[in-house]
Amino acid sequence: MRRKLIAGNWKMNELKSEGLQLAQAVFEKCGNRNLPFDVLICPPMSLLGLVADLPHGACGIGSQDVAETTKASGAFTGDVSAVMVKDLGATHAIVGHSERRTMHGETDAVVRQKAENAIQAGLTAVICIGETEAERESGDALNVVSRQIKGSVPAIATAENCVIAYEPVWAIGTGKTPTTADVAEVHTAVRAELQKLLGAEIADEMRILYGGSVKPGNAKELLAVENVDGALIGGASLKIADFWGIAETQL
Ligand code: PEP
Repeated sequence: MRRKLIAGNWKMNELKSEGLQLAQAVFEKCGNRNLPFDVLICPPMSLLGLVADLPHGACGIGSQDVAETTKASGAFTGDVSAVMVKDLGATHAIVGHSERRTMHGETDAVVRQKAENAIQAGLTAVICIGETEAERESGDALNVVSRQIKGSVPAIATAENCVIAYEPVWAIGTGKTPTTADVAEVHTAVRAELQKLLGAEIADEMRILYGGSVKPGNAKELLAVENVDGALIGGASLKIADFWGIAETQL
């Protein structure tokens, strides 16, 4: 039984006081209630430790990246290792977000190494994949995500230590979303690829999130699609009314 995961990616947003307020608001919403879904917030690295130090109950806290090196520390200016992220109190780490793949040239091999580092450090890796607009238009979307799954998911991945986030690049921050039929097609293909890579037992339990312009108004429909096990939310995770509006569609 796959519990849905409602995850917020704050990206490079929020100074200290607003960020802590937003985190506090999410934690209050989660409260001590037995929610029928899991919640995760991924603040920028600057706030990760401060957010993780707040009482947060069962709410997960994630980084948006980890260093590529397998070393826990050393001469890697600007990098933060997965071990350091875990030490701050985080539970998850996003790796391979399309903004990192595009702006920082991260390849599947880099993403796989980062995912492996996160898992080895005791974090759950949230591995992002997704096709560009040109790839979708040329009918290549399924090939692209299959290649990304094969290249980015490490052999040590299990349903407990790994989550996949399918985020079509053209849907991120644009207000555009794929049809539910297209989402179903890709998520089913991703599950099939995971089955080939990791075996049916692991693949059938692994969560596959959809991400890209999820809002309170479209969340119910998108999250009802077969093989969609939650959402990775960017812009709408920065306002508690929107973030929780999405979560509440699952109550
Ligand atoms: C994201 O960047 O992970 C994302 C899904 O962004 P948005 O919800 O703003 O499209």
